[in-house]
Amino acid sequence: MFSSQDTIVAIATPAGRGGIGVVRVSGQSSLEIAGALLALDRPLEPRHATFSRVRTDQVVATYFPAPHSYTGEDVVEISGHGSPVVLREIVEAAMQQGARLAEPGEFTLRAFVNGRIDLVQAEAVADLIDAVTPLQARAAFDQLEGTLTGRIAEIDRELFDLVAKLEASLDFPDEGYHFLEDGEAAGALNALEQKLGALTCESKRGRLIREGATVAIVGKPNVGKSSLFNALVRVGRAIVTPVPGTTRDLVVERVDIDGFAIELVDTAGLRATADEVEREGVARARQASSIAELVLVVLDGSEPLDDVDYEVLRETVGARRLIVSNKSDLPPAHNAEHADPSVNVSSKSGAGIDSLRTMIRRELDTFAGVPRDSVMITNVRHAELVARARAAVQRARESVLSPDGPVPEEFVLTDLQEARAALEEVTGRRTTDALLHEIFSRFCIGK
Ligand code: GDP
Repeated sequence: MFSSQDTIVAIATPAGRGGIGVVRVSGQSSLEIAGALLALDRPLEPRHATFSRVRTDQVVATYFPAPHSYTGEDVVEISGHGSPVVLREIVEAAMQQGARLAEPGEFTLRAFVNGRIDLVQAEAVADLIDAVTPLQARAAFDQLEGTLTGRIAEIDRELFDLVAKLEASLDFPDEGYHFLEDGEAAGALNALEQKLGALTCESKRGRLIREGATVAIVGKPNVGKSSLFNALVRVGRAIVTPVPGTTRDLVVERVDIDGFAIELVDTAGLRATADEVEREGVARARQASSIAELVLVVLDGSEPLDDVDYEVLRETVGARRLIVSNKSDLPPAHNAEHADPSVNVSSKSGAGIDSLRTMIRRELDTFAGVPRDSVMITNVRHAELVARARAAVQRARESVLSPDGPVPEEFVLTDLQEARAALEEVTGRRTTDALLHEIFSRFCIGK
């Protein structure tokens, strides 16, 4: 897909203006190209900052020799003032010296191709850069450090061991499971299944952290949904109005609740109505509450509950929900008992909003269902492959434990090879150009 013979160049810092901006050059001619465009009288020294000029800017250049650079190739990083005009000039100057503009993600792709990082780590680079909450950043950083890679390598070692023993016993067909003690295969497969199961379970929380959770605010008009939305977002995004039914569209805002990226959705309310526009809003509200990980059902605590409130409660009965009794600054009109967790808040004064945030956080934690500090699979691709490996190991275990006596080793081996193949796809030991293209084309240029 990409030729690794070329020397590539790109601006590595974000578009726009800043104190400094960095142009990265990578490839076998980096040093030569940098030397020419910096007009140096002696070559750049490894890992030393060298002050120089390129066209209209003063710059500092640093040379990272292969193989101990980000890409594993010779890399020169040129820091200039963070002006798009100046940085583009540096890139053009490098291109005139023979560099080619890098494709999206090409620096990281080269790091992968040159064995500096595996695929999990390459994907973690993108996640780390895209992280919007500290918890997302931590999960990505853990993967960059190789925690998931390590767990997978450990499982793969055990699989490899078992495969080797089964293959050895294939060479001595008369002896049956000759190289395995009685019950050893079953025991090993049980342990493997458990480890893969734990990883699968952890992927649920990981995905919530990476992709965020949708929290929908529902309730009849005028109970204070938009006000609550605003109180949670703490910025005035939704239109707050005393006229019922004016929040006709969905208003969405991303907020950080203790590290969970929450997509907070304000809906139009569930009131049945003839009004076309509002009906559309009602339909969306139903839809939002069916796809949301958590629904906040808002009631007006200062008014007696009416039929519409009960309808709202019925509509959301199947969803994971919190009952939010709003307007606690006014005298309470009802003391409803709920089976679901409930909280009194005042969107107006802010009373109870922090408790609500804590409850949202707690609900999402139990939804994810695993402790905080475990290795997290945050990526759908990884989760699917681990699930595939687990299913293959389960099949192998069933074959070994078959009540009709052990099945031929070939069958068990086929399943175990499949499990290994899936795990190798996670780390990128086994991969295709199409997959690499799919992963790296999502990166920006310069990464
Ligand atoms: P929505 O239709 O459910 O989105 O309700 P809004 O957020 O537009 O609020 C409806 C009305 O209730 C507005 O006049 C708000 O000022 C008022 N309101 C919202 N929350 C509170 C609250 O906690 N206390 C009081 N006293 N009024 C509130």
